[in-house]
Amino acid sequence: MSSDTVSAPSGHDRSTTEPDSPSESAATASAPALDATSEPDIEADLDAESAEPEPEPAEPDPSLLETDPEVADAVIDADTADEIADPKVDPATDDAPQDAAPTVADRHDGTEQVPDTSLLQTYSAFLPAASAVDTAALFRPVVDEPAEMTAPDVSVTSLPQAFVADAVPADETHVLVLDVITHREVKPNPVRSVVLGVLGLFGFDPKATGPAPNPLVPVLDAVWGLYRRIETGVANVLERAGFSATTVTTTYVTTLITVTTEQANDLLGAPREIVVGYSEELDTWFLVDPNRGISIYTAVTAAGSDGLQYPVDPPGEFVIRVAGGQWDPSAVSAQANMVVVYTYYDSTLGYPSYDGAAAPIGVTVVSDVLNNAYWYRGEEIFVFGHDFEAALDIVGHEFTHAVIDKVVVGQHGRILGQDVESRALEEAYADILGSLIEGKQDEQRWLIAEDYGCSSPRAGTRCAIRNMADPASLNGFAHYSQFNTSAREHRNSTIFSHAAYRMMTDARTADVSDDVWAQVFYQSLYGLTPGASFRQARAAVLTAARDIGLTDSEQQAIVDAFDDVGIIGVNTGLIAV
Ligand SMILES: [Zn+2]
Repeated sequence: MSSDTVSAPSGHDRSTTEPDSPSESAATASAPALDATSEPDIEADLDAESAEPEPEPAEPDPSLLETDPEVADAVIDADTADEIADPKVDPATDDAPQDAAPTVADRHDGTEQVPDTSLLQTYSAFLPAASAVDTAALFRPVVDEPAEMTAPDVSVTSLPQAFVADAVPADETHVLVLDVITHREVKPNPVRSVVLGVLGLFGFDPKATGPAPNPLVPVLDAVWGLYRRIETGVANVLERAGFSATTVTTTYVTTLITVTTEQANDLLGAPREIVVGYSEELDTWFLVDPNRGISIYTAVTAAGSDGLQYPVDPPGEFVIRVAGGQWDPSAVSAQANMVVVYTYYDSTLGYPSYDGAAAPIGVTVVSDVLNNAYWYRGEEIFVFGHDFEAALDIVGHEFTHAVIDKVVVGQHGRILGQDVESRALEEAYADILGSLIEGKQDEQRWLIAEDYGCSSPRAGTRCAIRNMADPASLNGFAHYSQFNTSAREHRNSTIFSHAAYRMMTDARTADVSDDVWAQVFYQSLYGLTPGASFRQARAAVLTAARDIGLTDSEQQAIVDAFDDVGIIGVNTGLIAV
């Protein structure tokens, strides 16, 4: 274990009270505070579709096979009967979390005025004898010595602020950052010198410990405390005005790990190969994959203003194993499935990580209190509850949401889903690519989330939440004439994804492989803008298909599929797009 201190550029520090965007500011107002120091860190839109978690049914309820479990749990909207049967879906929320998440004191927020070295002792929780990990951690493999690490960009304060910029051979030693502690100290100033000078006349020494030398000292202590609060307030104002009034110090708590692989059972009981980092110093294994930049965390949750559960102090704590211990099957599913998704995007689509630039991937597995999964835009982590991590298509679905965030606009906070239809379109893309990544060829191919524990987690009861082949079987729509602006986007999404099913199962496209379909849909994203309609996406898909080299007959099958579901294009000449 080592602790290295470097100075962070002051520009990297972000005040907890200083939202850096209007949307964040607005969200701040609605976010519930878990405590006085909480810092809402949110953006994007809010979708309150997710509901209060409900007790699990004692036994499988057939109705759960027909409606999305989340919907079943959803608060009924008296105005729209639609909502009651709305298949929830996405696991979803991808759209939701951003705004409603509760946040707690961020240890990286730089508000501490005095370095608290006791925080450094938190790593003792990693010792084998400990039953729990008590360190929110950041993972950051580097090649250089820790002391040479540059400070993380704290504009994304709670991210696993790791980056895997360079390919590092898997057998090399990596630095695992267990914690990053940022301290902000008001710079020395003339006023402070004067105050200290005056107080010193009465025997006050700010560094003194032990019994007070005279009865005045407690009073002077109070005066000094009051001055420091005023000084901090003034410094905050100056910082906001663009003046440099504080010094930021960042301390990294690190340990060295060597990378190895193990086999462990996932939630489905299947043996999976996992990548782990072993710290000899702590005799502990961490579920981290430095070469892909994937870290698996676990966190407790708290309800946001939308009722959805959010990780407290995201991304949470590293999932670990100690000597003689077992890996959590949820965490095994999370890593193994994320590796599959990562590899698919990287190898088949030429897009490393969710930003196309090898961004570190944080995956937080939470308890089944969260009957959902989502791409947490505000923190840029993936959150899975209720065994959703067991479903490869859902992991691909959430990952695709993140990809869309980056591809469609390339600007954080502006996404494809701007209204009911574009949000549905985003869900459809997430399902289409998620199912292609999953790659099943049997009767489950067109089902979404069929491997998640919908009813009784870990008891083997699993069921799907959407069906691209037969949307109505899971309360989805299959034709644009059914589009309902009052319905959840997931329910409308199957209009578009059903068209995908139809084109992929058309006899004329028998020679188009799943990988080519994935390329068509992925590439078509580059033809979309925020707020895109189904119709615009139809044109983008056809353009991508043509560019990728699908034949006229294959393109016609795409046209017919969209026509069949009522997503009608315009005839531009040779072929309707
Ligand atoms: Zn979704």
